[in-house]
Amino acid sequence: MSAVAPIGSTAARHPTCAVRIGRVRIGGSAPIVVQSMTNTDTADVAGTAQQVAELARAGSELVRITVNTPEAAAAVPRIRERLDMMGVEVPLIGDFHYNGHQLLAAEPACAVALAKYRINPGNVGFGRKRGTQFSAIIETALRHDKPVRIGVNWGSLDQALLARLMDENHARESPWDAAAVGREALIRSALDSAARAEELGMARDHIILSCKVSGVQELIAVYRDLAARSDYALHLGLTEAGMGSKGIVASTAALAVLLQEGIGDTIRISLTPAPGESRTREVIVAQELLQTMGLRAFTPLVTACPGCGRTTSSFFQELAQRVQEHVRARMPEWRLQYDGVENLTLAVMGCVVNGPGESRHANLGISLPGTGETPAAPVFVDGEKTVTLRGAGIADEFIGILEDYVATRYSQRGG
Ligand code: SF4
Repeated sequence: MSAVAPIGSTAARHPTCAVRIGRVRIGGSAPIVVQSMTNTDTADVAGTAQQVAELARAGSELVRITVNTPEAAAAVPRIRERLDMMGVEVPLIGDFHYNGHQLLAAEPACAVALAKYRINPGNVGFGRKRGTQFSAIIETALRHDKPVRIGVNWGSLDQALLARLMDENHARESPWDAAAVGREALIRSALDSAARAEELGMARDHIILSCKVSGVQELIAVYRDLAARSDYALHLGLTEAGMGSKGIVASTAALAVLLQEGIGDTIRISLTPAPGESRTREVIVAQELLQTMGLRAFTPLVTACPGCGRTTSSFFQELAQRVQEHVRARMPEWRLQYDGVENLTLAVMGCVVNGPGESRHANLGISLPGTGETPAAPVFVDGEKTVTLRGAGIADEFIGILEDYVATRYSQRGG
C-alpha cells in the first residue's frame, strides 16, 4: 500500500511508464491529464464534433467517443477532419465493446483517425473468441502504432475469470471475503490482459490501465493494489458516479485520496448531466479537483466567502459568480496570450469580518460592504489597498481592474 502523504503535500507520484497519445503525454513525469467522454451518437458527425470541440475548449485534453456501430466507425474520420478544420487538435479515443475487432478491421480510416483504443477485457469477446478478438484489436493498434487503454469495469467484469478466482478462493485455507476476490478479479483482468498485449508485441509505454468501480472505498482499495503491482500508466475514475453534487462529491472523495498518495496519471469525472446541462461540467470538476489540490493550474479560481446574515443582498453572490464566469470565458484567449495567468488568485468577500484579510491574500480581491457598513468596497492588489469602489458600477469597475491586472502583470507569450 502507498504511504499516505503528510498534510500539506502530496506523496511522490507513483512511478509509471510515460505514454504518448498524439501530442499528449500521460504517466512518467507528465502532469495529470484531464479527459472526458461525449454522450452524442457518434454517427452524428456534426453533433459529435461540436461536443468534442466544447469539451476541448473547456479544457479536456483527451476526448473519448463510443465506437459501437459501423456507422459510428465510418463517422470517426469525418469527425477528426471536421475538428481539424475547426482548429481543435484534441486526440480522440475510441471506446470499443463487443465488436471493436470487426469495426477496426472494416474501417481502417477509423483505426488511423483515433489516437488510442479503449478495450474492455470483460466484453471484448466471450469464451474461445475472447483471446482472438482481443489479439485482433492489439494487432490493429500495433499496425497503426496506437496506444491502448485496458479499461476494466466492475459492471462488465470478465465473469469466467471471477468464477475461476472464486473457485481458487474456496480452496484456500483461509478464504478471502467476496469483496477481496472481486477486487482481485478486476486487477487480474487488467494485468493479465496487459501481459497478453505485451506478448503480442505491445510496448509497456503504449499501455494504460484502469479498473473502475462505483464505490469510493472499493476504488481506493483497487487502485492502491493495482499501483503497488505494476508500473503501467493509470487512468482514474469512479464509474457511474451519478448526478450533481452526489457525483462530484463521490468522485472527489475517491480520486483525492488516490491523487494525494501519488496514484493516477489521468482522470475523468463520470458525471450524469441533468437534462439540458452541458457535458463540460465534468471537465470543470476535474480541473478544479486538480487545481484545488495544488497538482495543476488551469484557470484562476475565485475565493468567496459563503455569505451570512452580514451580507446585505444577493449582489455579493452575483459578483462572485460574474467574476468566475468572466475568468472562464476569457481564459481560452488569456491562456494563449499571457504566461502563467492560470495561477492568478481572486477573492470576492461579503463583509469587513474576513473580507480585507482574505482579499489581501489574493492577487486581486474585493471586500463588499456588509449590513450596516459604509457602502464602499475596497479593492486589494497584491496585498495593497488601491482603490475603493462605490455605487452601481462596482461589478463593471472590478472586472475592468481584473482585465488591467492580467494585461500588465503577466508577460505576453512569445514576447
Ligand atoms: S466574510 Fe463576512 S459576509 Fe462573508 S461569511 Fe464571513 S462574516 Fe459573513
